[in-house]
Amino acid sequence: MPELPEVETVKRVLLPIVKGRTIKDVEVLRKTIVNNLENEFISFIKNETVLDMSRIGKFLIFHLTNDKVLISHLRMEGKYIELLENEDSTKYARVVFHLDNGHKLCYDDSRSFGRMIMSNEKDYLNEKEIAKLGPEPFDVDDVNPLLEKAKRISLPIKTALLSQELITGLGNIYVDEVLFASKIHPLTPAKLINKNEWEKIISESKRILAEAIELGGSTIKSYHPGKDINGEFQTRLLAYGRNRQICVLRHAFMRFIKVNGRGTTFCPRCQIKRGAPLKIAIVGKIASGKSTVLEEFRKANSCCVSSDQIVHELYAQKAIQELIIKKLKVKEEGEFVEALRNHIANNSKDLDKLEKIVHPLVKKEIEAAFKKSKAKLLVAEVPLLFKANMQNMFDIIVGVDIDEKIQIERLQLRDKEKSALLKRLNDEKNLFNEHLSEIDFIVNNNDNLACLRKEVRSIICKVEDRLNPLLPRT
Ligand SMILES: [Zn+2]
Repeated sequence: MPELPEVETVKRVLLPIVKGRTIKDVEVLRKTIVNNLENEFISFIKNETVLDMSRIGKFLIFHLTNDKVLISHLRMEGKYIELLENEDSTKYARVVFHLDNGHKLCYDDSRSFGRMIMSNEKDYLNEKEIAKLGPEPFDVDDVNPLLEKAKRISLPIKTALLSQELITGLGNIYVDEVLFASKIHPLTPAKLINKNEWEKIISESKRILAEAIELGGSTIKSYHPGKDINGEFQTRLLAYGRNRQICVLRHAFMRFIKVNGRGTTFCPRCQIKRGAPLKIAIVGKIASGKSTVLEEFRKANSCCVSSDQIVHELYAQKAIQELIIKKLKVKEEGEFVEALRNHIANNSKDLDKLEKIVHPLVKKEIEAAFKKSKAKLLVAEVPLLFKANMQNMFDIIVGVDIDEKIQIERLQLRDKEKSALLKRLNDEKNLFNEHLSEIDFIVNNNDNLACLRKEVRSIICKVEDRLNPLLPRT
């Protein structure tokens, strides 16, 4: 979808093509573009001359003779293409303007979501689509009115900015860029954005939009501002489209979440989430003491769930047992968990299949438990976090580390099958070490239990600080 910089680029490309030109005729090939007012539209436009063009947010404004104004919204795929009269119109031409210099201008829109609105100089700013728009960042000198207006908005800042009612001109791509540059988490309720942060949002919006306009916008998918102009800004995007890539500033992996249905990419380190609820994952090697860490969170009135417990409960369900037996062709002998364990021991390749069934179910159960809870800290012990790629579900990841020697000693007390165990140990160690940069807090469990508990309590204090949205953000 073209955003403000792209629409500004379209305006700049189009202005020399149409300025001073009289529209000799117009064909409406798709009535919905002109709100089904085909005949009115033709007589409105015909024989008028384009005096100038302007832009409000993502709306293109054509100023015509006789005080007429044509408002054009490109929406998803709309574009203008200039052709000679004897050239064929474009494939998705919806409205064709025939100009007095032997050229024609095709409004091309494969999805036909774009709209053209007839108005006049006196009223066009009051048309409902335009009137609700907030000021462009370029026109904001004082953020106080924004701060006041936003105080009534509980929606996430990302959603509030996309609505165009606070400020206009930031679409999905640039909201992600601006929030990343401003170090604000996209889920922060708009009413909690403080004055400094609004100043940051406005100054970063000005900088990013100006830079994008300078570079001709971002060419994403099908957008083309004009012949021979390509958006270069896409090569400069630091947040949008960079899920799972390393953040340019702090070397954490960027995460992708949905905010009111819109895909959103952010850096969990640069854009720390503040205010409840906070979702916390506990990961760690086997026998590292994850359950003790979870227990400590439970004492701090968190909602605590354990994936191992969830898996245990899932395996007890008849329907799930049947599904696994069918998909993996497990021999039904004796107790289910025992039969499954034997099956995997003899068919190690089926572990992937099993995980494909179980991981989504565990994810669903964790989400359901969190949804039900009113606690401010929602904590899950998730040994499978990295393997199941569940990082995006959580705001904070706590890792429990342990020296290998101590780990093996503790494990030998638990388990007798040493060779299988050592392999698993190695796999888990590698997984943990590979993802070290994604872990926000690491606790070491090489000492006694009291030391571990103390370390966890200090992490809980730090996490609880984030629950208070009024604290100064660093
Ligand atoms: Zn970062």
